[in-house]
Amino acid sequence: MSSPVWHPFTQHGLNEPIPYVVRAEGAMLHLADGSTLIDGISSWWVTTHGHCEPRIAAAIARQAGQLDQLIFAAYTHEPAEAVARGLIDLAPRFDGQPTLAHVFYSDSGSTAVEVALKMALGYWHNLSLDGLAQARSRILVLEHSYHGDTIGAMSIGERGVYNAAWTPLLFDVGTIPFPAPGAEQSCLDALEAACAQKPAAFIVEPLILGAGGMLLYPAHILREMAAICRKHGVLFIADEVMTAWGRTGTLFACEQAGVVPDIMAVAKGITGGAIPLAATLATAPIFDAHVSTDRARLFYHSSSYTANAIACAAAAANLAIWRGEDVLGRIATLADGIATRLSKLAAHPAFANPRQLGTVAAIDLLAADAGYLSDLAPRLRAFLLERGLLLRPLGNTIYLMPPYCLDADQLDSVFAALHAAGDMFGAHP
Ligand SMILES: *Cc1c(COP(=O)(O)O)cnc(C)c1O
Repeated sequence: MSSPVWHPFTQHGLNEPIPYVVRAEGAMLHLADGSTLIDGISSWWVTTHGHCEPRIAAAIARQAGQLDQLIFAAYTHEPAEAVARGLIDLAPRFDGQPTLAHVFYSDSGSTAVEVALKMALGYWHNLSLDGLAQARSRILVLEHSYHGDTIGAMSIGERGVYNAAWTPLLFDVGTIPFPAPGAEQSCLDALEAACAQKPAAFIVEPLILGAGGMLLYPAHILREMAAICRKHGVLFIADEVMTAWGRTGTLFACEQAGVVPDIMAVAKGITGGAIPLAATLATAPIFDAHVSTDRARLFYHSSSYTANAIACAAAAANLAIWRGEDVLGRIATLADGIATRLSKLAAHPAFANPRQLGTVAAIDLLAADAGYLSDLAPRLRAFLLERGLLLRPLGNTIYLMPPYCLDADQLDSVFAALHAAGDMFGAHP
């Protein structure tokens, strides 16, 4: 029986199996046929503590019976207030740098990024109305970036087959070369030169580019990028949609560089991964530029479900877990467990370029045909699926991004499957 469901990032013409999942718990997915899968990528990078975390599930149930949804234009509710206070409290702050002080809600990483772009341009637009600055609109981005799939988010992301159909709709940006090993200085020089042209903002994924291939760059480069932007008065936007909530070993990746962005987007793990919610945090100058008795200056952005009360209650429960427990300790233990197994896997001749940041680990499979559109990734996916593992390789890059509850036995079976994949698909003699 064919299904009317049109899946994302799925080529329905290839008739790949579409597993039917009925239940999830911790790091495990339970399928309709009675089998189980280890969720090795946190169901697309969102699940942090584990699936169906009981306190988050209970908070959702409680809130659903009390206040489900409320217009958020000039109305408010306790879950949204509590989460905003909590975010400001936890967000990066360092002496002498402006503090993130305002929280704007939306519903996905892409919209949180769109909001960040709109805030940045709104800031310059409103300053220009007062004659305090020239209006600025150009956005600088890092090569290989990914910021989401809406038109604005695609515009600031790497161009390729995944957005070729929409190129005519995408706006022009300034692209700064990725600070690959040995190319750090040319990256910083290019940023310096581009900032001198008075762009509105520079947006980056801090420390690790996710969809671009799990590409790492050092914290001191992130710090220098932020310093260059500050020196030129260019707004520095951190897209922490993937990196926040402990993914990289700290609550936010920017902490490792001692950087406070002017604008910061968070989503994915903000509710522990249970329900969609996103937030864009901004410093006082960004907010203040929109504050006036003139209605034309207000921030014109909303979606129907902005700050949905059930989603905010889930986020509040997530924040309570972060405040009350040693989540970073669990993350460190998991990261150690990954590191020892990753170094063994790296000794396998089929693999190269192992890399890890916190609970994100990646390694490249040396296979003959390894392009993004080659059938290696889907064949690998099917091979791992047969071994009870949900992974979604990016071309020939296999990466792990598990929920923090993944235990040592589960880690062992994950890496056993990866060794088997190396034996099966490696191009070595
Ligand atoms: C996933 C992701 C997004 C988009 O988030 P969605 O919730 O999928 O819209 C944006 N930026 C980064 C860095 C991401 O990893």
